[in-house]
Amino acid sequence: MTTIADIKRLLTEKKASCRELTQRYLDAAAQTNPVLNAYITLTAEAALDAADAVDKKLQSGAQLSPLEGIPFVLKDNISTKGIRTTCASRMLENYVPIFDADVWESLKGQNAVMIGKGNMDEFAMGSTCENSYFGGSRNPHNTEHVAGGSSGGVASAVAGGLAVYGIGSDTGGSIRMPASFCGLVGLKPTYGAVSRRGLIAYGSSLDQIGPITTCVEDAALVFDAICRKDPGDMTSRGAEPVSGKLTGNVKGLKIGIAKEFFEGLPDSIGKALDNAVSLYKKLGAEVVSLDFPMLKYVLPTYYILACAEASSNLGRYDGLRYGYRTDDFNDLNDFICRTRSEGFGPEVRRRILLGTYVLSAGYYDAYYNKAQLLRRSIVVEFAKVFTGCDVLLTPTVPVTALRFGADMTPVEMYQTDILTCSANIAGLPAVSVPCGFDEKGLPIGLQLIGGKFREDIILNTALAFERETSGAFCKDSGMGVTL
Ligand code: GLN
Repeated sequence: MTTIADIKRLLTEKKASCRELTQRYLDAAAQTNPVLNAYITLTAEAALDAADAVDKKLQSGAQLSPLEGIPFVLKDNISTKGIRTTCASRMLENYVPIFDADVWESLKGQNAVMIGKGNMDEFAMGSTCENSYFGGSRNPHNTEHVAGGSSGGVASAVAGGLAVYGIGSDTGGSIRMPASFCGLVGLKPTYGAVSRRGLIAYGSSLDQIGPITTCVEDAALVFDAICRKDPGDMTSRGAEPVSGKLTGNVKGLKIGIAKEFFEGLPDSIGKALDNAVSLYKKLGAEVVSLDFPMLKYVLPTYYILACAEASSNLGRYDGLRYGYRTDDFNDLNDFICRTRSEGFGPEVRRRILLGTYVLSAGYYDAYYNKAQLLRRSIVVEFAKVFTGCDVLLTPTVPVTALRFGADMTPVEMYQTDILTCSANIAGLPAVSVPCGFDEKGLPIGLQLIGGKFREDIILNTALAFERETSGAFCKDSGMGVTL
């Protein structure tokens, strides 16, 4: 699969101009997007403008910064000034932001080449990307299967060779799950490492922006390029760069395994994870058994908090200021009610209702307050875990990519998040790395969770695995641009 280094080499050795390369990605996207539905909007103009700036710089002999000239996909809940940002919702179908998100501002400043805006579940709510108003994204490894959610379009574009890397957001697993389903590396950074300014909010205490890439080193490069303290996001703190710290050496590293994360797995996933554990032992890591009894409370805690925050965050879509507005109404109340009923899809409406319920007087103590207390206990449990190990190893998702259009109840869908959302609840960094294939050839991911701001440890642990397996689990889908 194409990496950032591959493109860099072509550019610096003058084997292709940035404009030529960009045009190839744009052409491939135009051709393959009808199959994958990875992009909601293609941004050819922005891409070619950046490419021309890069070519000029190359001609002058100047050095390129790490992401300069590299074609990428940006999830469509990240604001791009002058370029429509839909959040995959009818509510924002024609919304054009008047300011840039911090991540896009910094990437634009580095001449990153944005091929387009990535498809996603509406307002990032979902696990298959099928909740998109624009239709779901397909998995490039088997288009009968979903790409995963909610950053499905980003993963589909990268695995489908329509972008070299992508930027997604992760509230309960939305970077790691599609990365796992599509055989890619997905990093959810520590809460606060990357600014959320301009990210259309879902659950503000859980949301975090991060990379989806074809290899671990690229994840580190993108992380370094986007993490910074931003006065526009009071929760942002920035982080130390990690690229220079990766050695791929795990000798003496303590890897924790908590049995609760391995219960009820299909054979293929269990086996892939067992192999990974044996490989780490062979590489000199020490594997420690731990308990994580709080895991059974993780999903209810997550869904109460995420829905509560979503119901508050989505209160702003009333049709009065921006976004979709109904043209058939009797009075102001009716206008707002119809606008919201018509503008939001069923999953978003369900979560607003659930969130409003758990926050209402009379139920607040029973649900919201209790979830906050549980959150605290989960944070404490993780603190205990990291006194016994450096990194916790788990599967990323208890299933591989589901069939497109599979009939699942909302609760069945929520259950696929069981292994990812504890890292969001505790604000910890977590990465998914490809570690195998199921009997159908669909990718399997392993997850590494670390202590706060220990992206260096989890990425280094991931790199050791990737190197030892020669990246064999990052399989090319055979679609899109091949260099
Ligand atoms: N699947 C989870 C949800 O629907 C996570 C989504 C996300 O991380 N944005 O809430």
